[in-house]
Amino acid sequence: MLETCWSIESHGRDVYTHEVFAEFQRQVVAARDYCHVKSIVQVGEVRTIGISSKSGKVRVVSFNTSTKAAHCSCSMFESLGIICRHIIVVLKNEGCNEIPSQYVLHRWTKMAARQLSYDANGHELEGPSTCLSPTIKKLYSETCSKFSLALHAAKHCEEKMRYFHKVVGDAFTQLEQMGAISEQSKVQEFESFVGTSFPSVISIHPPDVANTKGSGKRLKRGSEQTVNQKKKRANSIQKVPDK
Ligand SMILES: [Zn+2]
Repeated sequence: MLETCWSIESHGRDVYTHEVFAEFQRQVVAARDYCHVKSIVQVGEVRTIGISSKSGKVRVVSFNTSTKAAHCSCSMFESLGIICRHIIVVLKNEGCNEIPSQYVLHRWTKMAARQLSYDANGHELEGPSTCLSPTIKKLYSETCSKFSLALHAAKHCEEKMRYFHKVVGDAFTQLEQMGAISEQSKVQEFESFVGTSFPSVISIHPPDVANTKGSGKRLKRGSEQTVNQKKKRANSIQKVPDK
């Protein structure tokens, strides 16, 4: 849901993933509520603008009116990859309705989230092929975004940083206790190795019934052969005419 009527906010909603847009939106709202132009100095194409902020500190944005290149003294874009409230105010005043393309990092976009995949060593690749499920890819992408945003939110405060460090450490320990690889992942790994997926239903035809009764003679053992020979001999003796 949009918080302002600024076109730049709706552009951010269109291009950014949900988590990144939430942070961008926070910057847009702060720009509207707390940031005001205090001074403007123009030298050639470069405009240097002083912007007031909530803390009372004046941030300095240098903006090239020709290339739309902007830099702010708070350096948020350089550390997080999202333009800060001060640059947003400058862009708004310059009549920019969209975030300039050089400030929309591909890794934060919905497009990147859809294309995210991995190589055999688990390293991130960009491309349509992957053996991981769409659900895992989505979770991976969202986790990356949240991790970066949380790191940025914590890095200026030791208490927050210690908390984040502990939470990530605890999560890692928990993951190790859950086992290195789940049964589902093993199946996916094997399927990717053989290049095909396991069928969900396996049908096996029953073998044809063979009638073996009377089809052959059993080989007799040595002792059975001796007994039979004795019987034959006895029969032949009985056949002698009793005269
Ligand atoms: Zn700034």
